[in-house]
Amino acid sequence: MNNIYHFVDGKEFKGTSQRTSDVYNPATGEVTAKVYLASKKDLDEVIQNSLKASVGWANTPALQRARILFKFKELIEKNADELTKLIVSEHGKVYNDAQGSLTRGLEVVEFACGIPHLLKGEFTENVGKEVDSWSMRQPLGVCAGITPFNFPAMVPMWMFPISIACGNSFILKPSEKDPSCPLLLAKLFKEAGLPDGVFNVVNGDKEVVDGLLESKGVSAISFVGSTPIAKYIYENAAKNEKRVQALGGAKNHCVVMPDSDLDQAVNGLMGAAYGSAGERCMAQSVAVAVGNVGDQLVSKLKTQVEKLKVGPGMDNNSEMGPLVTKQHLEKVRGYVDIGEKEGAKLVVDGRNIKLQGYENGFYIGGCLFDHVTEDMTIYKEEIFGPVLSVVRVKDFDSAVKLINNHEYGNGVSIFTRDGDSARTFASKIQVGMVGVNIPIPVPMAFHSFGGWKRSLFGDQHMHGMEGVRFYTKLKTITSRWPSGLRTDPEFIMPTMK
Ligand code: NAD
Repeated sequence: MNNIYHFVDGKEFKGTSQRTSDVYNPATGEVTAKVYLASKKDLDEVIQNSLKASVGWANTPALQRARILFKFKELIEKNADELTKLIVSEHGKVYNDAQGSLTRGLEVVEFACGIPHLLKGEFTENVGKEVDSWSMRQPLGVCAGITPFNFPAMVPMWMFPISIACGNSFILKPSEKDPSCPLLLAKLFKEAGLPDGVFNVVNGDKEVVDGLLESKGVSAISFVGSTPIAKYIYENAAKNEKRVQALGGAKNHCVVMPDSDLDQAVNGLMGAAYGSAGERCMAQSVAVAVGNVGDQLVSKLKTQVEKLKVGPGMDNNSEMGPLVTKQHLEKVRGYVDIGEKEGAKLVVDGRNIKLQGYENGFYIGGCLFDHVTEDMTIYKEEIFGPVLSVVRVKDFDSAVKLINNHEYGNGVSIFTRDGDSARTFASKIQVGMVGVNIPIPVPMAFHSFGGWKRSLFGDQHMHGMEGVRFYTKLKTITSRWPSGLRTDPEFIMPTMK
């Protein structure tokens, strides 16, 4: 049995806490490791260490910081196979999907390599007579990130490369369900030349999270996870006077217009609904069939869902792996039961799948519901599993209204060949990330990621320039150097004449 601890001050840190949580291989259902859950006392030591490291790091020129990031990028590429296998072994998703998610994280490192350029300030000569003014961005000190199980590499990498590039030290509290990949990333960053203490990984649960929220030593909190916890983080970080961005859950819709290329829409939906077994915050869990497209859409989806190849993530033939834990599997199965009870038509039932040799793995096959309505639990709540609901609406306006009424607003897409519908949709929809004939519109690293409504609490999205703004504070300097500096006292508000 493998024991997983923490990575602090450039080395393994065992802490004093004896509390642990089981880490599983979802493909087999076996416990593969015990992760130690840090105490508040352990965390205090980490925060002190991070504070100390943040001083020297903030004074390191951005160009030198960038060179370490370039080296980190190389090391991620060199170790991509090992990092990917760690994701598969603890999360369960299939290998090439895990590889793709690592690449999306790597792209944020690539973006952060441009930090000398990104941190350039603004300068105005002569804002007044012989008075110059300039603005610059400075680091905050110690920032912390709390991340979910579904992207153990990518979501932490939305945060720490930019925060560290900006001159902060960073404490990552990854999900206790799959902690190994973030720990390897921290070791690689050290190998790239990052000074000890600038990037620390602390494993834990609510105790550590509360410690981060309460500590005066932590200046900013980035969170990604479910909506109830995101709200808790937002409220408590703000109460403790911290900067906060807290990304929450989702229920993403895909509108299929009668004029769309239906095969393209179905292929898009298959990947978006069942890829990563639906455990993506950008997974599409609702297909909105507009007008008369419903029967054909459901029939084409049914054929494909029944063909889905479910299996262990390391098997090259698998298209969909297991869910992360048995508990989560039961929750997803429970939603399918509720859907049936509430009157939706279960077109494909994946609940009773059995895989030879993997009888204890956390598998469920793809599930497809038709005739789902707005009042049903499976429409309202995030299932986070391979369950797609088809809702039928009469026209485009009803589709927009349906989506705008939903409490979540993370991602959405429309399949159409009509430019007018696409443009109106992009303009009117109350959702943060919109795809037009793109099923999963995840913005690239140099744009920013974030939802609307109860999918994000806070003001700034993640990565891209929003990330640089979040992890720095703005300072504006106004200066005058008159020869023989002498001024009379002024008692009125200075203005320029
Ligand atoms: P989660 O909210 O259960 O956990 C997220 C993090 O919060 C973990 O590190 C966990 O240890 C910690 N945590 C859990 N309960 C806590 C508590 N009571 N107090 C303090 N901290 C607590 O989420 P999850 O199950 O790991 O991830 C799935 C969720 O994340 C889904 O809702 C999904 O939509 C969401 N998600 C959102 C985005 C996005 O960008 N909006 C991206 C990925 C995942």
